Amino acid sequence: MSVDFADRVKNLPPYLFKEIDRLKAELLAKGVDVINLGVGDPDLPTPPHIIERLQKAALDPANHQYPLYSGMNAFRDAVARWYKRRFNVDLDPSSQVLTLIGSKEGIAHLPLAFINPGDLALVPSPAYPVYQVSVMFAGGTSHIMPLVKENGFLPNLDDIPEDTARHAKLLFINYPNNPTGAVADAAFFEKVVAFAKRYDIIVCHDAAYSEMAFDGYRPMSFLQVPGAMDVGIEFHSLSKTYNMTGWRIGFAVGNAHVISGLAQIKSNVDSGVFNAVQLAGVEALDGDQNCVQQMQAIYQERRDILIQGLRRAGLDAQPPKATFYVWCPTPRGMSSADFTAKLLKEAGIVTTPGSGFGEPGEGYVRMALTVDKERLQEAVERILKLSW
Ligand SMILES: *Cc1c(COP(=O)(O)O)cnc(C)c1O
Repeated sequence: MSVDFADRVKNLPPYLFKEIDRLKAELLAKGVDVINLGVGDPDLPTPPHIIERLQKAALDPANHQYPLYSGMNAFRDAVARWYKRRFNVDLDPSSQVLTLIGSKEGIAHLPLAFINPGDLALVPSPAYPVYQVSVMFAGGTSHIMPLVKENGFLPNLDDIPEDTARHAKLLFINYPNNPTGAVADAAFFEKVVAFAKRYDIIVCHDAAYSEMAFDGYRPMSFLQVPGAMDVGIEFHSLSKTYNMTGWRIGFAVGNAHVISGLAQIKSNVDSGVFNAVQLAGVEALDGDQNCVQQMQAIYQERRDILIQGLRRAGLDAQPPKATFYVWCPTPRGMSSADFTAKLLKEAGIVTTPGSGFGEPGEGYVRMALTVDKERLQEAVERILKLSW
């Protein structure tokens, strides 16, 4: 069979973890005790009350049929209640809330609703790779907005050429940010709203880490800023907040026109989220939020262990206010790939090269706080034995 892959497959960037996976497999085969700080997947279990709700809901035959495309009313109502409680933002559950099969699914489908071949999207870098790939799948082109330390890892909208801004249809942002751990304030979101209004651009804010924050800091919603509802939507996920990455449930909220475009794509591609999972999602959003505080306390303790260790090793890593990522500068003169390889070969520690998230991520590695504190302490001891 000689049918070639379509250009959109041929044009995919190389898989971020390919070389790391190869090296990791090699070390594991040699019997090395590998510590994996590479992947952003919580190691903690889903809270029991959420699992119990799934168990009950799975037994009810009413939940065995196709779900509603846009999501169960019960789930969308729960999202609206959670938004009101958490951000004091009012949402109409029927037109401003959409259930997703995880936020990745919604992000990947959004450009299909608004990007025609040749259209432009404004995409940050380093970033979650899905933004740029989904724009490419829709036939669009990404204009890269570099995220650099000097600007707090926020895109500098003034750097976007006038002509580019006028042609852009979509703008992606993500705070708290993966991979840099950076956060955004109201002043930044206000600038984004003004920019989007001026150039008639849809804003897609990925807020997957809105609940994973430390030291009492509470990230805000993009939709809290006046005018945001006119220009954008926000993606949320139950994955990181409730340790539910495997369950596949998230949601998009905001501008009704944008939500309806995404809903039209989805209704032609998928058939929604298993009702029992949506009902477990209702339990997560409406239920006791102590589990969220416990999750935050665990990551905060891990963060402090790793940051102190990296600093003792002479690396200028800043403690993130949110997300379970430490964005660590490489030792002087060492590239992201070099440092990642050194950590893996000489210390058995898997990290992700910053350059894998885009060229402006060069000079950093990302370390995910997804192992327990004893393992992190062990990682620190191993790093302290290295020299560079
Ligand atoms: C983990 C993550 C998501 C969440 O993906 P789900 O599909 O909801 O599991 C979204 N955006 C970013 C930046 C992430 O790191």
